[in-house]
Amino acid sequence: MNDTDKVRCDACPVMCYIAEGQAGACDRYANEKGRIIRCDPLTILDHTLAAGGEVVPFLKSDWDGRVFKGNEVFVTAVGAGTTYPDYKPAPFIVSREIDGTDFVTVVSEAIFSYCGTKIKIDTDRHLGPETATVRHEGEAVGHVTTGEYGSQMLSLGGVDHLTGGSKKEGRVTCNALMQLCNKRAVELTIDGGSRIVVEAGKAPVIDGKLERRMRVGCGSATIGMFASQWKGLVDEVVVVDDHITGVVSEHQAGKVLDWQPSGIKIKGRRSTPGRYFQVAKPGLGWGGTDIEDPLVILDLWNGKKGAKPGLTMLMVSTTGEQYGYYVLDKALVPRRQDLPVELKPTVELIAENSEPALCTVLFIGGAGGSLRSGVTKNPVKLTRSVQQLHTRISCGGAPAYVWPGGGITIMTDVTEVPDNSFGSVPTPAIVAPIEFTLRRDNYRALGGHDDAVRVLADILGSGGEYGDYMRALHRPAGKDFPHPGQD
Ligand code: SF4
Repeated sequence: MNDTDKVRCDACPVMCYIAEGQAGACDRYANEKGRIIRCDPLTILDHTLAAGGEVVPFLKSDWDGRVFKGNEVFVTAVGAGTTYPDYKPAPFIVSREIDGTDFVTVVSEAIFSYCGTKIKIDTDRHLGPETATVRHEGEAVGHVTTGEYGSQMLSLGGVDHLTGGSKKEGRVTCNALMQLCNKRAVELTIDGGSRIVVEAGKAPVIDGKLERRMRVGCGSATIGMFASQWKGLVDEVVVVDDHITGVVSEHQAGKVLDWQPSGIKIKGRRSTPGRYFQVAKPGLGWGGTDIEDPLVILDLWNGKKGAKPGLTMLMVSTTGEQYGYYVLDKALVPRRQDLPVELKPTVELIAENSEPALCTVLFIGGAGGSLRSGVTKNPVKLTRSVQQLHTRISCGGAPAYVWPGGGITIMTDVTEVPDNSFGSVPTPAIVAPIEFTLRRDNYRALGGHDDAVRVLADILGSGGEYGDYMRALHRPAGKDFPHPGQD
């Protein structure tokens, strides 16, 4: 075979020459009998299929010729092919009638050089300092951002890691993003912090330990929620938390319940009554602190302010996973004893109110660039249409949040996108499905490629530029297919 037998793929800037029967550098396109085809099937979401009832192939052997009406099926961009090099209409522009109104959905796999993931890890544990570098296979792929309510946020990817560093950094970043978006487990290390395994929709594994629970709230909130449950059963309760440690006898909730002073003294920085910051250093111990013995956060007890021999105290973490029961001896030193049976339900209630710890992965990408040419001859009109809410954007049929302000920056929960919907090309860049849905009259008004609009039956019957390989999946549970006017 010589080079003249090869066919050039122009679906991304790499422009592979692909020999007959071979795939290109991304494994997403191949040369089949001298024609470039898309290796993955065009994915159609079908309301009528039961969960798990995937039909492959969708076309020819299985399609019974039924005419689809309304919102019954939705052609996603998964497997559709791309608009690149962006001078041509999107691979599929599908018309459908919903409640008497004509809509079109413009369907394309977009190449995102500007994209990343925002990750929320439900944990109290200290994963690493804010702004610390996050690595995958030794390469910098992102950083630790803010700690939120019971969760630590990471920001991965972005143009600086994809294209602004070394070739290896870009390649490793791109691969990590693709794996995360495809709901696979990815190991990340944080400089000066933990090693974590992140998998969308699954519990994080932190330094080899599976995280089980997300805290019920901060220490102060826990006191507020459960103070009345403890009243009459114990003389003092301390909820140990790296952010805000709560002390019931001093807390406003305790005051309302007429809780008596206990003479306790906490070593942290007092914020407001019964709320203390910085009782210890952040870490992997009780309530996201570095302590394993909660008594180290206590100073000497004050007999003039209520401390007395026999006074009882419960110390508990914000997930209820750690707890201890103490009784003051004659010298006002707390001595650990077994948790009284009547207090057990209160600790179990904290645990019961702690939700399962999960990793959330949101894909974030900028769709305001040249891919808009696949939708309209005047790209800024699409941006305006999106900003005016005339155009709804989805990602593999999953709703996309559009950031306010300029451009089209979208965010999508990857667990709502069909499995393995994300790909990559070696430039490096992520390839993600994107669909724009709007009313047909609005589509014409923004200069859309009206000549390229096709009805669904035609697409099912003959496929598109990259072949006719299709499959149908059930839609994501509880989700409707997007169209403007729908919340
Ligand atoms: S990397 Fe993939 S999309 Fe890009 S030219 Fe090669 S085969 Fe086509």
